[in-house]
Amino acid sequence: VSASSSPYFRDVLGAIPGYQPGRKIEGPDGRSIKLSSNESPHGPLPSVLDAVAEAATLLNRYPDSGAVELTAALANRFDVPEDHLALGAGSVGVLQQLLEATAEPGTEVVYAWRSFEAYPLLADLSGATSVRVPLSEETHDLDALAASITDRTRVVLVCNPNNPTGTAVREEALTAFLDRVPDHVLVVLDEAYREYVRDPRVPDGLTLYPDRPNVAVLRTFSKAYGLAALRVGFLVGHPHVASAVRKTMVPFAVNHLAQAAAVASLAAEDELSRRVEATVKERERVREALVADGWVVPPTEANFVWLRLGPHTSDFAAACEAAGVAVRPFADEGVRISIGTPEENDELLAVAHAYPRRNG
Ligand code: PMP
Repeated sequence: VSASSSPYFRDVLGAIPGYQPGRKIEGPDGRSIKLSSNESPHGPLPSVLDAVAEAATLLNRYPDSGAVELTAALANRFDVPEDHLALGAGSVGVLQQLLEATAEPGTEVVYAWRSFEAYPLLADLSGATSVRVPLSEETHDLDALAASITDRTRVVLVCNPNNPTGTAVREEALTAFLDRVPDHVLVVLDEAYREYVRDPRVPDGLTLYPDRPNVAVLRTFSKAYGLAALRVGFLVGHPHVASAVRKTMVPFAVNHLAQAAAVASLAAEDELSRRVEATVKERERVREALVADGWVVPPTEANFVWLRLGPHTSDFAAACEAAGVAVRPFADEGVRISIGTPEENDELLAVAHAYPRRNG
């Protein structure tokens, strides 16, 4: 009996494919390079491991559901009041909490497409209608996004930089867009990759939200902070938004290993930002090498690059896989490639160099 035909499941379930995570693969000589999930290529810092080990002595206890220490550390680090913060199990968890608080059947959630695959999944689960606004030249079409807002719209998601294209919207365009958004719509700036942004024209959402009660920012410890396995993300927004998102959290969603690791990571930001800097340098090297090789690669502000390949997408992904490199294909559209270590990136560049065609 399938989810769509049995009597006790919601109708919407039949149309939901479920989230497809990046796969780990094994290459010819047992080598395996995972460039499919935009993770940090670096293992945990010793100070973070120590904090996790200490927290692990309390596995029999429930975590601090208010995450007092982490909330204080975040407020201090980002210079925001504590009541502007809400936590969740990854920023995906926070987004689910936010949609739980806002979206329902008969309402609309608007976002650019292609963008992060969790958006349609979570919007569909909420029962709301997804309104997908096509990207224009691999980047957000903010005019079209604003024009898609109706009386039924509850939330607009703006992924900046955008996953999977890596493109980012600039301050002028974003503030002009925000000025057009009516008060009954909440704008979520998903800044999962904010730490990798180097273009000064790309705004930091944390500087934009204070004057705008209907704007909130999503951040994560999964990328630049290297804690993807632990599932911790947060929202920064006005107190009415943050408290609604705290209300809809599954009790104890952020466990205390995650809380301890996040606190320790905030204390180790110098070390972590050197890693981010190395990734940014590699990103530029990879992009330039691909461009020099004849590939078209949109400028990227994230820890990945996007190759539009159209009908050759799965063939290119298979060529990568044959060399032991996992990338993320989006059928008939293109391939997203995370930036790894220099050696891992060299393997990817070798496959791309040897590939008999270029984009599409
Ligand atoms: N937002 C975007 C744009 C992402 O690409 C990702 C991770 N793929 C996330 C949010 C979610 O990250 P997490 O749930 O691990 O915080």
